[in-house]
Amino acid sequence: MPKSATGRCAVSLCWITGMNRLRRALASLRIKRGDLILLTVLLTVSAAMGILFAVSQPKPEYVSVREDGMEIARLPLNIDRVYRINDSNTIEISGKSVRMTEASCPDRICIKTGAISRSGQSIVCAPHRIVVTIIGDREPSPYDAITNLILLH
Ligand SMILES: [Zn+2]
Repeated sequence: MPKSATGRCAVSLCWITGMNRLRRALASLRIKRGDLILLTVLLTVSAAMGILFAVSQPKPEYVSVREDGMEIARLPLNIDRVYRINDSNTIEISGKSVRMTEASCPDRICIKTGAISRSGQSIVCAPHRIVVTIIGDREPSPYDAITNLILLH
């Protein structure tokens, strides 16, 4: 049985062949060394930006209640309480999340939204022009976490 010469290629030869193939593939893609450096820099920068963004994300701290676009209350998210917003809407803060528990609106979308817990999430009661949003600790408050809502519990 004659041994095939092509089938047994030395490891170092395979490496060189592989590298040459890779180089040719890169050349066919018109990627130059400069492009690779630029690509690496861009990837590094975007990764760093991603980390920075994740670190700088404000922690969810408050529940902002808006009526007709005006903030009428800013409530601490870490204190479990039930607040009445108006004759129709009641919210409950519990376990660092907030949900609409009572609403007389016909669509009841606000109640169906369920509990929200992340910064930026909102519960909207369009018929009553109420928007409940969770906001981060770095957003300035005109109320210093004081509310003029009626505290139920
Ligand atoms: Zn509603």
